[in-house]
Amino acid sequence: MGSGYRGRLAPSPTGYLHPGHLSTFLIAARRCAEQKGTLVFRMEDLDRSRCRPEFDRASLEDLGLFLEWQEGPDLGGPHKPYRQSERLKRDIYLPFWQKLRDGGWIYPCNHTRRQIQAKQKEQGIRPGPTGELSFPRALRSDVSASLKYQRPENQAFRFRVPDEKIEFKDNHLGSVAYQGGTDFGDFLIWSVEGYPSYEFAVVVDDALMGITEVVRGEDLLLSTARQLLLYRALELEIPEFYHCPLLRDDSGERLAKRKGSSTIRSLLERGWSAERIARSCMAESPDPELIQAISK
Ligand code: GLU
Repeated sequence: MGSGYRGRLAPSPTGYLHPGHLSTFLIAARRCAEQKGTLVFRMEDLDRSRCRPEFDRASLEDLGLFLEWQEGPDLGGPHKPYRQSERLKRDIYLPFWQKLRDGGWIYPCNHTRRQIQAKQKEQGIRPGPTGELSFPRALRSDVSASLKYQRPENQAFRFRVPDEKIEFKDNHLGSVAYQGGTDFGDFLIWSVEGYPSYEFAVVVDDALMGITEVVRGEDLLLSTARQLLLYRALELEIPEFYHCPLLRDDSGERLAKRKGSSTIRSLLERGWSAERIARSCMAESPDPELIQAISK
């Protein structure tokens, strides 16, 4: 019998996985195993312009070399489907979007990226803790404007962020706090391309899949603050959080798929065994050989 702990692996199939992802997923799997919990694999494949079927397949294959999950796109389970694109087709996100609309939390936003950037410049908006510029308040619309929409379809909607401090306890970092409206501004709930944003879909799915602890990289700390606002607006039970340190290359830059940093596949092709990769990814202090191998 498993315990009540439910953890998850939630890769986005936008590229081949690299050791930075693996190190987070190994920590997630270890924390779940320590609690004799259930591990869920959820494919976060909503962004049609960036996700590819070959990366979807590869992420299942690559992670399958290192760890086991009990529910997922390949295994099924009580919360299927485990691909967000399939969940979107089944309208799973719609009632939650409607709740945000009815609660007066979101507004339709028709500003182009260029208009947003011009306003940010005009108003001298400074980068927040992750270097991102907040959405300018001057471009906000009234939340009542969303009431005329039955469905989001191909219309963008933003969450109106209150000017308040958002604090949470992280199981790794301790107490964390961000200031809404300063550290981050109104964020997307639904994109003009017709799909839910990461922040929105991840909250709905973590809640529906009964996830009790979200283990993710430290780069998503600010996202967790945004997501806490969504849990509150949607009246969903809040899981615990554990943010993992990021693996960095030898110039101190974090690994990112988009930068084409060295992948797990390429390490295997270069003769690294799965055991050695896993050991290096889980080492207390960064393994210099791994850092060198992935910095090329
Ligand atoms: N799918 C997200 C990513 O690959 C991770 C989501 C999360 O852990 O919340 O960056």
